[in-house]
Amino acid sequence: MTTPTVFRAPGRVNLIGDHTDYTGGLVLPLAIDRYTTLEVTPQVSAIDLASDADTSPVHLALPVTDPESVSPPWGRYVAGVAAELGTSCQGFRGTVSTTLPIGSGLSSSAALEVAVALACGAPREPFALAQLCQRAEQRATGVPCGIMDQLTSVAGVAGHALRIDCHSLEISPVAIPDSARIIVKFIAHRRLASSAYGQRVTECATAERLIGPLRSASLRDVDSIADDVIRRRARHVVSENQRVRDACEALASGDLATVGRLMVDSHVSLRDDYEVSTGEMDEAVKAALSVPGVFGARLTGGGFGGCIVVLADADSPLTVDEVTSWEVHAVNGALSEPHV
Ligand code: ADP
Ligand code: MG
Repeated sequence: MTTPTVFRAPGRVNLIGDHTDYTGGLVLPLAIDRYTTLEVTPQVSAIDLASDADTSPVHLALPVTDPESVSPPWGRYVAGVAAELGTSCQGFRGTVSTTLPIGSGLSSSAALEVAVALACGAPREPFALAQLCQRAEQRATGVPCGIMDQLTSVAGVAGHALRIDCHSLEISPVAIPDSARIIVKFIAHRRLASSAYGQRVTECATAERLIGPLRSASLRDVDSIADDVIRRRARHVVSENQRVRDACEALASGDLATVGRLMVDSHVSLRDDYEVSTGEMDEAVKAALSVPGVFGARLTGGGFGGCIVVLADADSPLTVDEVTSWEVHAVNGALSEPHV
């Protein structure tokens, strides 16, 4: 029997910079030491994939043309990738497993897309690969998501967070000091996420029609917006971009207290101006901040559930249970994996 080929892609957590990627703003995520792994052998004209996270396997005849209607639903992510590759998609059969919590804001969907894309023989150029997976996710879910998740899974750098300019796609790795602990705590499965996400994307587009690109707008420009909701949405994005700039500087100089303060400011902005937090997430952030040695905490990802991320000192007594909370470390992205 042929030995299966292994393709592995990490999830990600975003330290700061949420709801900025789809207006070409700044984000600061890291690829984390939790992975989705495909073990596959080549076959002609079809993809057959079973997941240990879902009882229904996926069967796709190649080429795939209508990923939106594939069943079971998780197959849409696989089909989205295959459809984007068109006739160049290579077939395989095999299994997928993951050490990421699924549907929890740590990008199991992006990790799945990236691992599948590599198995399908996608070109290994980081930006093209991430963009292909982003389009696959948009087709699979109908959500106009940004590129952060896929690019981080593809291009993560061990020991570093990635400052990504989502307009120029410039990636600047920022070293994470050894003394920093990054802890992720699951709060709740996301609800309302896709419809509210689409609504926020539309609101940002409305703001941009009034004051131009949010990535280069100032808070003075934002103040000129008459509509209260649109003004608050724009204020979150513009202030969040500045917080990412400040957090990168502080992280690079080892000033974790400042990074933590900016994370809390980010949470408040996501809660009050962007309105994507929940009572449970606010409580969890508050509880984390009361633990000694915690510099900061905030909701991470799209909001309406998912996870919070906590930045703590090495000496902090904050504990994790490996079921609803995890300590994570920055790892290399999928393109650095050996794929033997
Ligand atoms: P997140 O990416 O934060 O985990 P999403 O809601 O974006 O949450 O993606 C979760 C969806 O991705 C799941 O509902 C499932 O359809 C799919 N998925 C991700 N990983 C796997 C896996 N290993 N096996 C099957 N489906 C998966
Ligand atoms: Mg996802």
